[in-house]
Amino acid sequence: MLVVEDERRLAAAVRRGLVAEGFAVDLAHNGEDGLHAAREGGYDAVVLDLMLPKISGYRICQQLRSEENWVPILILSAKDGEYDQADGLDLGADDYLTKPFSYVVLAARLRALLRRGAVPRPAQLRAGDLVLDPASRRVRRGETDIDLTAREFALLEYLMRRPGQVVAKTELLEHVWDSYDSLDLNVVEVYAGYVRRKIDAPFGRGALQTVRGAGYRLAANGG
Ligand code: CA
Repeated sequence: MLVVEDERRLAAAVRRGLVAEGFAVDLAHNGEDGLHAAREGGYDAVVLDLMLPKISGYRICQQLRSEENWVPILILSAKDGEYDQADGLDLGADDYLTKPFSYVVLAARLRALLRRGAVPRPAQLRAGDLVLDPASRRVRRGETDIDLTAREFALLEYLMRRPGQVVAKTELLEHVWDSYDSLDLNVVEVYAGYVRRKIDAPFGRGALQTVRGAGYRLAANGG
């Protein structure tokens, strides 16, 4: 595991926490060293702070992906606005955790990334005629552009990266909202409704499917 974090005390604490969970961890304390290590080190995953001296975490992510380096990246940052989260994911990060965080959660997220491995990220996600472009943040159905808010976009993107799979509401809450409070589950339903009204209803389609008692599924054929 490579941890890129400029606050040395925090970096050391993250290393201790991850070592206690059974990971081997190297540290880099600025963006330049971090980018170099991520390129050369053959790591299974990278934990990346966003605000770093020399080269930001955003740039590191973007740079690695532009070199077709698909090492799993988890962004760890104090910034918690929905745009920050969306930006990090757009630039090719695989997951995002805001500070303060628990090491148990960080370790669980990293294990999930390691199970997936280094997955190539296509520039555009497609489900039939429904197309989502993470880089330009555009969605279209056929030739029609669809306007989504940042949160709606993040929800749709999460589902479109798992076409045909049932995704639990708790998983969406955890990854799209970074929340574990089951009281918030209602918000997932509300946003699923918003997304449907934009990507499905106007076109008489049904891409975003409710799987009763389980969660949601994005039809691989676009509905
Ligand atoms: Ca920092």
